[in-house]
Amino acid sequence: MIDYFPKLPPLSDFEQGLISEKIEIDAKYKLPKNITYCKKCVISNQRPRIVFDGEGVCSACRYWERKKAVIDWREREKELEDLCNRYRRNDGSFDVLVPSSGGKDSVYVAWELKTKYGMHPLTMTWAPHVYTEIGIRNFQAHIHAGLDNVCYTPNGVVHRRMTRLSTIEIGDPFQPFIYGQTYLPLRVALNYGIDLVMDGENGESEYGGDTTTESKTGFTPKDAEEFWLSSFPLEHWKDRGFTDRDLQIYSAPNFDRLQKSKVERHFFSYYRDWRPQNHYYYCVENTNFAPNPNGRSEGTFSKYASLDDQIDPYHHYFSLLKFGIARATSDAAHEIREDLLARDEAVQLVRRYDSEMPSEKTTKVFLDYAGLTSGQLAEIIERWRNTRLWSGVGASSRLINQVSI
Ligand SMILES: [Zn+2]
Repeated sequence: MIDYFPKLPPLSDFEQGLISEKIEIDAKYKLPKNITYCKKCVISNQRPRIVFDGEGVCSACRYWERKKAVIDWREREKELEDLCNRYRRNDGSFDVLVPSSGGKDSVYVAWELKTKYGMHPLTMTWAPHVYTEIGIRNFQAHIHAGLDNVCYTPNGVVHRRMTRLSTIEIGDPFQPFIYGQTYLPLRVALNYGIDLVMDGENGESEYGGDTTTESKTGFTPKDAEEFWLSSFPLEHWKDRGFTDRDLQIYSAPNFDRLQKSKVERHFFSYYRDWRPQNHYYYCVENTNFAPNPNGRSEGTFSKYASLDDQIDPYHHYFSLLKFGIARATSDAAHEIREDLLARDEAVQLVRRYDSEMPSEKTTKVFLDYAGLTSGQLAEIIERWRNTRLWSGVGASSRLINQVSI
């Protein structure tokens, strides 16, 4: 029970009006009318920006084939060594910033940079909306394993109001969080005089998205805006009554200052064969990482990915409403590509867990956090339910077409 969320102001007339307005989801996300599932994994063509080829295989699976057969990882290793040699400092100052929640992937990156390449990393955390106990534990564990960290937690009232409006208007409670993920590392790097930012994976190629990003070593701020923020630039929030003060921490760093700096942002997954399960074992061994004590996370079968935010299940649930696929699909698809799961087993796991509703406990936290009533949340859910993919409403609703063997 969390007792420190002050009540948010009631919904504005504008917000209230939006709730009852149905969204044309297919047009908004340019979704293909007919659902197709990848022949190799379990992802569907409803995932925004994913591409299926003539053989019915998704772009993420094709990328993984190239990872296994074409990409010369020894050459990439050399590129990574060269990169570190260019940025390594010997005067005691930090030389690489690693955006990290304390999760297994980013901690693996920071720990490798520190112990294998002799870098002096600073991890930077953009705090989750509402920490889980295991999230705090792992966050602390990575620091106490021997890493320096700076954590930024945004103003709770502003973040909660943005999260509520984002859930209503954008159909994703995480959009405000994404601004921080996108821009804050660059601002912190500039402030600390660190010229290299090392992100984890390029989600566009690893999980299926725009294939043109595959050969990129990292994203420029312009790339990031295009893939993650294009529909809702920060200006949008000003039109919704948020002030410059409210939005300061979500905004991009001064572009001139960034251009003049030497800051570069890279993906570790460009240099290293990215295998999340290996990162889990690595962090258990090296940085005292612990999995979800409940045995698995809500909405999936896995126990070691994105453990830190109590409202995370709603981020995935809104994806399920809009696209018919959610967290178990994403986890299973990745495990198939990693050769950890056969497709028929993956199908069973998706059918069992993907459309699991967030638990009562999670729902209570989300409602208190976002300042919504359960009736309002039910209406928002129906606003974002893609009726082409679902039959029925509320508790009796069902996905019409789920992945099959
Ligand atoms: Zn696939």
